[in-house]
Amino acid sequence: MLTFSPFEVGLLIVLICASIYGFWLPFDKVWRNLLRAKKDPGFELRPIGKRVWKFLWEVMLQAKVIRERPLPGLAHAFVFWGFCAFALVTLNHFAMALGGAFFSRESPFGQFYFFFAGLFAVTVAVSITALAIRRFLVRPIWLGELSIESGIIAFLIFVLMITYLGTFWIHENGAGAKALWWAHTLTILVFLPLIPYTKHLHLALSPITIFLSRGHFSDIPPLVGDEDFGLDTGKDITQLETLQVYSCVECGRCTQHCPAYNTGKVLNPKEIALGVRGYLNEFGAGSEKPFIGTHISQEAVFQCTTCGACEYQCPVGIQHLPIIVGLRRGAVNTGKWEDDTGTKLFLNLERNGNALGFSSAERDKFIQKQQLPVYDGTQEYCLWLGCMGSYDPRGREIIAAFSRVMRYLGASFGVLRKEHCTGDPARRLGNDLVFSQLAENNLETLKQSNVQRIVSICPHCVRTISTDWREYGQAPPIEHHSEFLARYGDKLPNDNSGEKIVYHDPCYLGRYRGVYDEPRAVIGRSATVIDPPRARERSFCCGAGGGLAFLGEEKGKRVNVERAEELVHTGARIIGAACPFCNTMFRDALAAISPMPPQLLDIAQITAAAIDRMSHSNTI
Ligand code: SF4
Ligand code: SF4
Repeated sequence: MLTFSPFEVGLLIVLICASIYGFWLPFDKVWRNLLRAKKDPGFELRPIGKRVWKFLWEVMLQAKVIRERPLPGLAHAFVFWGFCAFALVTLNHFAMALGGAFFSRESPFGQFYFFFAGLFAVTVAVSITALAIRRFLVRPIWLGELSIESGIIAFLIFVLMITYLGTFWIHENGAGAKALWWAHTLTILVFLPLIPYTKHLHLALSPITIFLSRGHFSDIPPLVGDEDFGLDTGKDITQLETLQVYSCVECGRCTQHCPAYNTGKVLNPKEIALGVRGYLNEFGAGSEKPFIGTHISQEAVFQCTTCGACEYQCPVGIQHLPIIVGLRRGAVNTGKWEDDTGTKLFLNLERNGNALGFSSAERDKFIQKQQLPVYDGTQEYCLWLGCMGSYDPRGREIIAAFSRVMRYLGASFGVLRKEHCTGDPARRLGNDLVFSQLAENNLETLKQSNVQRIVSICPHCVRTISTDWREYGQAPPIEHHSEFLARYGDKLPNDNSGEKIVYHDPCYLGRYRGVYDEPRAVIGRSATVIDPPRARERSFCCGAGGGLAFLGEEKGKRVNVERAEELVHTGARIIGAACPFCNTMFRDALAAISPMPPQLLDIAQITAAAIDRMSHSNTI
């Protein structure tokens, strides 16, 4: 074991103190911002078990990092696991100089552990070299501009591993061993203060961020009191949001999957996180300067389709949607967002109770024409029509098909005499007043009608009713028609003709609700389901969410065209959808990109057609 002179011990203590001070100097700003930020309304630590599992899965096992980018993810995981394995070695390393080593290299445990850490040192050295080659030579565009800090950090990690591995070849008590010891020590002491200056702050923060992330996907926190307008100034930032933006590792996974960024819009979710971080560094939590206009552009904030790809992809637990919707709230609730289409949409919602601006008499006519029964409290299901099902011609076709299927299955149902928009576009665009009015109104109607169960053709309605309305009261349980149909699967015709149908996963059904298999199972009864290149959790948005179906897109390629092209390229003659918004977006896109586009059908229409075929063949 190495021995150290009093001078060396003294020097080491001074250097350790300097290194810790060097770390604290920039970290103090982060710490102060965390303390100054307000508490997260509605945040609950429970259920702890779920959080512990998430921590084990995403932090300790690095499962998300590996799953979404297997090779770089594995390289990153080895570096992380190496850090964990080295924790004991590093403690022992410093303790040895201070006269309190826990174990020596010669002891049985020491022999095992030093060898074990040696294996990790090799994998970390190889992994960090591979990651550096990727960052500096391959240079995927998602990583953004070259960062010299990343190079320095990678070099320091490499030196740490080499100086450790060198000890296996050098006589333990010789001058060479002492030189290696000091080289290793100095590398650690230089590394530590660099952490808070760089994106490597995620090493310290991201395990906490992941553990503390809000319980649900895209969980929008409630506003508290009359003075809370959303994320307008530094006074409104919460502790979780602060923790999250300081955890960003700038990996660009969110950017890579963002439909807005990928179609030439200004929005880049990574820049939203870094913009909030830049704001905090410049003005601090508690500042009265607005976020929008200083570090974040309003245009970008209102280009988000709320598809959730960014939040789903982020490896360090950043929840972009509460931040983006929070920024929209800050702009809308304070009157800073001026947009003619947006104003018209809000007026439609306020005056007519639907996003399309029709009179409710139009809905009554449709109900009569389709002879849809009115819900009277005796039926099993309340069939929620939604704005699209009530007023949009394609949405009405889906309702007509689904009601036929429900009748065929013998499921009793009725529709409400009066139904207002769930408030989804108002909620996602940040208009809390309009949203609250719609939610409260609908909750009262459901209560008066004694509704016990709801089924809906629209994933946006399902999400808003089941999750967002909770702020105003408890709605009856609701399910999407894909879940309903899958449950009745055995009673549906089983006549797979071999026809290929490419299925598009709607964001609000897939990423938001985790429903992937049910619509595939329903289509699979009558056709062969194929997936486009981006499917399931990686599905690419249709462009309608976040109120953009009504606002439209002014810049770049249209998101619906980008997705429709991908679906068309699969060669399938039918596109299967499970959302009336996706349906309407693809209808426009398909007409624009092909004179002979594939047929576009909702899963209810696919099922109704199979029932018709079966009835027809039975008649013959
Ligand atoms: S929710 Fe979708 S559109 Fe919005 S920033 Fe994230 S990835 Fe982009
Ligand atoms: S927000 Fe998350 S996914 Fe996006 S760059 Fe930062 S760490 Fe990566």
